[in-house]
Amino acid sequence: MSGPMHCYRHPKRETRVSCATCGRPICTECMNQTSVGIKCPDDARVPRGARAGAMKTSQVVKTLLTGVAISILGSAVAFAIYQVPFRLILSALAGYLAGRLIHRAGGRNGGSLAMATAGVSVALAFSPFLLPQLLAGNFQIFLILPALIAVGFAIYQAR
Ligand SMILES: [Zn+2]
Ligand SMILES: [Zn+2]
Repeated sequence: MSGPMHCYRHPKRETRVSCATCGRPICTECMNQTSVGIKCPDDARVPRGARAGAMKTSQVVKTLLTGVAISILGSAVAFAIYQVPFRLILSALAGYLAGRLIHRAGGRNGGSLAMATAGVSVALAFSPFLLPQLLAGNFQIFLILPALIAVGFAIYQAR
């Protein structure tokens, strides 16, 4: 490549250096010297190794898809839970399994995204049965407790 490029963060500055990861031109002020070459500030900030709580894009996507699946399929489980007498044990088990699935989908990294997805998806799974009751002013502990237990177990397992 010939001719000057312009820093992507400072369009008026000419440069001949580009980021080793994304290839965008960067000026001397913006470049970061790393063990694998010169990088732009965005790529230099990315952690080098897999770190707890750090997910790859594919793992983030899998985590979110698993969350969607749990919130949809989980409503059948939640429905069943409200039909049986052992609902607290079953909701703990359901929350546990949901949390494990999300933890696995995220490459077992855990972190806040996995925990949030687990909690929200399990809460959504329960909401078709819980929300109408709550809106009707029915705040019975027997209705609310299974959902709380399931959400708690899911978050704990996904962390
Ligand atoms: Zn870059
Ligand atoms: Zn620059």
